[in-house]
Amino acid sequence: MNNERTGERYSLNTALIHGGDQIDEQTGAVSVPIYQTSTFKQDGLGKNRGFEYSRTGNPTRKVLEDLIADLEGGVAGFAFASGMAAITTVLSLFKSGDKILISRNVYGGTFRVLDKVFKNFGIVYTILDSEDPGDLRAKITDDVKALLLESPANPLMAVTDIRAFSEVAHEKGVTVIVDNTFMTPYLQRPLELGADIVVHSGTKYLGGHSDLVAGLAVVKDKETAERLAFLQNATGGVLQPFDSFLLIRGIKTLSVRLDRHVENAHRIAKYLESNPDVSRVYYPGLETDPGYKINSKQARNGGAMLSFELKEGHDLNRFFGSLELISLAESLGGVESLVCHPSTMTHASIPEDIRKAVGITDGLIRLSPGIEDVDDIIRDLDRAIKESRR
Ligand SMILES: *Cc1c(COP(=O)(O)O)cnc(C)c1O
Repeated sequence: MNNERTGERYSLNTALIHGGDQIDEQTGAVSVPIYQTSTFKQDGLGKNRGFEYSRTGNPTRKVLEDLIADLEGGVAGFAFASGMAAITTVLSLFKSGDKILISRNVYGGTFRVLDKVFKNFGIVYTILDSEDPGDLRAKITDDVKALLLESPANPLMAVTDIRAFSEVAHEKGVTVIVDNTFMTPYLQRPLELGADIVVHSGTKYLGGHSDLVAGLAVVKDKETAERLAFLQNATGGVLQPFDSFLLIRGIKTLSVRLDRHVENAHRIAKYLESNPDVSRVYYPGLETDPGYKINSKQARNGGAMLSFELKEGHDLNRFFGSLELISLAESLGGVESLVCHPSTMTHASIPEDIRKAVGITDGLIRLSPGIEDVDDIIRDLDRAIKESRR
């Protein structure tokens, strides 16, 4: 986003609040009006004022779409009814016979839609060692048309070198899609690292308050933008005006929320690392984490998501049952701390053998620290860990 008078580019912290031309031209309202309408009166045959029908385009949604395009540095943004609707629409750019390479540890729903839906339409996938660009080089056959990455990838927070993978993919004309849900454009900007398309679950940090489900996509070139606009309208999984408003509102406080989320995550990771009941901590913000170096090259910091494993001799049911402040729930990225058990919750749709092979053990616990006082979060964890000792 640029200053209209001087042309100077505003910093991201400013763009979070003002990006997407948020002031309503009609009334001067500084908060985006909710255009709760399905259709728009036309001035004559073939004459409209920029909008015809709210599946195709809606003024509230348009502000959000321009805002996310600006934040990610793309040419166009698209808002969908969920992260999965965004991912499904982006995957619809491909056709029967095409192959998609995916990160090991890709989001469970992404795996499920590829394995149970797109496979039926002849779009197939192969799982990649997303920490080794050599594996990508070996797996790019002529039918590979896209590479879908997450970094850090859920739930082991494995880091992929987005720049290195994009370079290898582009040698063969493969489209690079990055799911940036865990980092958001405040912490990581995949298009600048070489990706072609960014997707988001807006349900998580962007919304930030666990009060809506939404998805976003941003593309880097005009041709893909036109194709995705066509698919968004043709398949119809669009975000509603009220939810678009909520997401715009959430994005305004993204950087202040994330600063606190990250600070809390770091303190909690340090606490867990020094806890003798914990066998392993997965957090790319710790210097001891195998992903630390690459993550530091491509992201502002390690983000706010972490996972850990309790040593043998702990009863997980008792652990989850003993938490008072932290809720056992799916999802992440809200102001309140949430904890989940990936093998039975978020990653249950991944077959057991694949789950075990990639390291999602039954003892793994994923934590999304909220922005509460970190000492209260740590006290809650500490008590639950002690009470879970058998
Ligand atoms: C939650 C999530 C999704 C799916 O988003 P929904 O809004 O739940 O449909 C996709 N990718 C990642 C990394 C997620 O965490």
